Amino acid sequence: MAASPRGMSAQPDTLDVLLLGGRVIDGTGTPTRVADVGMRGDRIVFVGTAASEGRVARRTLDVSGLVVAPGFIDPHAHVLLDLGATGTSRLDGYLAQGVTTVLTGNDGGGPIDAAGTLARWQANGLGANAGVFVGHGTVRQRVLGMRDVRADAAALDSMRTLVRGAMQGGAFGLSSGLYYAPGSYGSTDEVIALAREVAPFGGVYDTHMRDESSYTVGLLGAVREAIRVGEEGGVPAHIAHVKALGVDVWGRSDSVIAIVRAARARGVTVTADQYPYLASGTGLGAALLPRWAEAGGRDSLVRRLTDPAVAPRLRADMTENLRRRGGPAALLITSARDSALEGRTLEELAARENADAITTAMRILEREAPSVASFNMQQSDLDAFAVEPWVVTGSDGSGGHPRKFGAFPKAMREFALDRPVLSIEAFIARSSANTARIFGIADRGVIAAGHFADVIVFDPAAVRDRSTYTDPERPADGMRWVFVNGDAVIAEGALTSARPGRTLRPAR
Ligand SMILES: [Zn+2]
Repeated sequence: MAASPRGMSAQPDTLDVLLLGGRVIDGTGTPTRVADVGMRGDRIVFVGTAASEGRVARRTLDVSGLVVAPGFIDPHAHVLLDLGATGTSRLDGYLAQGVTTVLTGNDGGGPIDAAGTLARWQANGLGANAGVFVGHGTVRQRVLGMRDVRADAAALDSMRTLVRGAMQGGAFGLSSGLYYAPGSYGSTDEVIALAREVAPFGGVYDTHMRDESSYTVGLLGAVREAIRVGEEGGVPAHIAHVKALGVDVWGRSDSVIAIVRAARARGVTVTADQYPYLASGTGLGAALLPRWAEAGGRDSLVRRLTDPAVAPRLRADMTENLRRRGGPAALLITSARDSALEGRTLEELAARENADAITTAMRILEREAPSVASFNMQQSDLDAFAVEPWVVTGSDGSGGHPRKFGAFPKAMREFALDRPVLSIEAFIARSSANTARIFGIADRGVIAAGHFADVIVFDPAAVRDRSTYTDPERPADGMRWVFVNGDAVIAEGALTSARPGRTLRPAR
């Protein structure tokens, strides 16, 4: 008999790890039950009563009183930079939240070379499992630059070829960021044509919609566009970080929900993810500038910001965008090259400069492109989305916003533990199995024999996000054990140095 990778076993069915007596919440939504969970190699091989079935393990952990659940799956983690670097590719901030699988390349920014990207990540070493989307914005920029132009037949053909190649290379689907330049310059028909390239691979269309507020087509128009891309492109449509952004659309979660329910009722697959914060995170320019001002790229923008002939129109559009987002006190600079800007609202910075908010914003944007937390959501809209069965948990974990280090524990606290919005079983399901199903992640997201051993163990009373808007990278508390493919990345509450994560491709 050959030795197992973990050494000689006493007998062939000896488990590597046995979690004894935990409160198992298996991800399917069924009620919590006390059971033992056994793992061997990279798989869960046993769920039941170990003693009565004579199960023995090389390592037995008494987890009575603790929850045993599938590792969380984050479909919207902005970790392209983290995974490309050696120091951060373990994704410790996600592991501390209990996230064992991330998808990235969202908002239209995913790489064209999916296969090469996945290979580099694996060579680098991963703490969590990771998969990637190909980005509409990236593809459009490659073919048409930052120009605000329609794609002609030749350009569209080139874009389709790039998307197809990325899908062949293992991408989970096409992401779009139609709010952002250059994605915003693409028509609905262009996006549909690209979605059709994703369909034969069973991919998903994942969209940061053209409008989450009242900027252009409006929130409801953007939801209809996303559904149309799904329907005419022949792919499941997934709305990223669903929200009602800004005073003009507060309370419109009910209309969004009605539109999605109607589409689902006629057989269109439409889903969404959500993070549990009242502030979104974006760039100061993305929040305030009209997209026409960004056409051509950064140099063109700076010229327009300083051109007296353009200033009146630019100022008028920015004033309206600031109103939509709740005014200068609702925009907090979270990260900037000039650290004197950080931790201050646009209102405070304007007062310091003795200037109006728009002038202050324009001066900052001439010099750099800081990140902001934009306080633009209502709790009632968050709660309304949270209970829909087609909504899953996501972090949208961009730098400078606490959601990257806190979204999952905060969602658990606010939707399931501290307020009775969702049962804990429903919360776990929408953070694991439901997400796996939406994106075609095989054999993960459920505590069941045969599934990969992505398993988290925690005391619900101790689970807590600690990241804040002024200290956004404080890791979360509460995970006692986190296993990825059977290896502990958190043991007894402490991070290990293991890198058992794998690159994932969609299962079809
Ligand atoms: Zn986004």
